[in-house]
Amino acid sequence: MNSAYPILIVSLFLSLLGCQSTYRMTARELGMSDAERQVEASKVTLQSKRETALQTLQFTMGQRPAMLDGICYYLNKPAGTRNLSREDIAVLRQAFFEPVRAKPVLNILVDPGHGGTDSGCRSGAVHEQHITLAIAREVQAQLKALGHNANLTRPDEHTTRTLDERAQLGASLAIDAFVSIHVNASANPEAKGVETYTLPAFGCEGTLPNSPPRGPLVGHAYVNTSTRLAYYVHRALLDASQSAPYVQPADRGVRHAHFKVLRDTPAPAILVETGFITNVDDFIRITDKVAQKEIARRIVSGIVQALCQNEPN
Ligand SMILES: [Zn+2]
Repeated sequence: MNSAYPILIVSLFLSLLGCQSTYRMTARELGMSDAERQVEASKVTLQSKRETALQTLQFTMGQRPAMLDGICYYLNKPAGTRNLSREDIAVLRQAFFEPVRAKPVLNILVDPGHGGTDSGCRSGAVHEQHITLAIAREVQAQLKALGHNANLTRPDEHTTRTLDERAQLGASLAIDAFVSIHVNASANPEAKGVETYTLPAFGCEGTLPNSPPRGPLVGHAYVNTSTRLAYYVHRALLDASQSAPYVQPADRGVRHAHFKVLRDTPAPAILVETGFITNVDDFIRITDKVAQKEIARRIVSGIVQALCQNEPN
């Protein structure tokens, strides 16, 4: 008898065991023990059979982009061959599978990106700082109309605020969340869509190039709620129940970056890139007054769904 046979049989058995255990521990640690697991090549799908905050989670081994109920979400670390990283399991579990300490009345600091001497990106005579201020004012007005408290980090187009001042304002106001609003730009006119940023989990890289792990940072204490908030706001912006002139945006994903306001704000914090000023479709959505109101309505809806007890819709 060939002495290699027993080794072959043992290794076959072990690889079968490995296959069986693929993502079982992830499902259990997320609180999805009942989930159906499908593994096709390097793609893994976890599908919950009961009512959970997330029904379907899809990962590709070795990659960061994942799909959470059809919405693009960048993992903090590439998905492994057996499991997600412990950082991702911790963030996803606490963001989506554990009870939320919801508040009926929120205190939100809305941050219109740029302003004053810093006008941000531009297309012709249209500057980012005016778009972000218009959307932020709408977000503030709509939050107040729902009975929440909302402040802006800058009151008008003349005021210049440093990033430090914006984060410090968040500390002084005892806020429930910091929502920064921005507009993207690219040399490629085809680049379009919405990106929503949170701080990466501690020990993890951002999704932008050359974004090594940093910290520990103030924002790391809030990463779970920031992720929940980012996901709900991002999902609301992509909701297909659109009405013109709100042009359906492309999904560029919930991403991670060590932006100053995400690092230093002592509260859950997100930064929304509402669209590309350099793309024809996005330009309409972010500059049309009616579409700006719709962007604000969706951001508010996402904030309320993520953080409030009384979830609308
Ligand atoms: Zn900006």
